[in-house]
Amino acid sequence: MHRQVDYIELIMPYKSFEEYSDDVTDNVKNKYQEIITDLGEDTSRDGLLKTPERAAKAMQFLTQGYDQDPVEILKGAMFKESYNEMVIVKDIELYSLCEHHILPFFGKVHIAYIPNGQIVGLSKLPRIVDVFARRLQVQERLTQQILDCINDTLNPQGVAVVIEASHMCMMMRGVQKQNSTTTTSGFRGQFEKIETRNEFLKLIGK
Ligand SMILES: [Zn+2]
Repeated sequence: MHRQVDYIELIMPYKSFEEYSDDVTDNVKNKYQEIITDLGEDTSRDGLLKTPERAAKAMQFLTQGYDQDPVEILKGAMFKESYNEMVIVKDIELYSLCEHHILPFFGKVHIAYIPNGQIVGLSKLPRIVDVFARRLQVQERLTQQILDCINDTLNPQGVAVVIEASHMCMMMRGVQKQNSTTTTSGFRGQFEKIETRNEFLKLIGK
């Protein structure tokens, strides 16, 4: 099977790439063609000619997390280190798709952990956020998956994850609270202690 790979150099010190299966692109493209027609549009007009194919590729990009292994990503950059203080990576950009409406939700992720003999390369934390976010998701499960992955792989003294996100399915569909954001959080180990948790929340400005 032919696979087309376009490399994109990102600001983060790692490479992301778009990889499309020709079979999946063809199948999804044909279905989008039908959907667009069913919705009352004319797929033969100029602006829409290549839309089914573009949408098919976009959806593959936005769900590429199914093919990626977050444990492998973390294990690829773990180092022995006696550092014992809280490590925080805050304001990690998040873009995901709500699994109920297949509409975007987006916001920020804040992650903290307290090492237990091992640290992880800081760029790996945004990467595992992407791996779990590029799937059909709910914000609650996304929070837990990031938390569990770090906890089980790095085995730290504690880990904390906070996600603040806006959901297009709420904002675009006429629900009253158009400017509301949803906050979810999870805490393990040392962060289950109220003082440690409060220190983290203070440091991320909550
Ligand atoms: Zn939704």
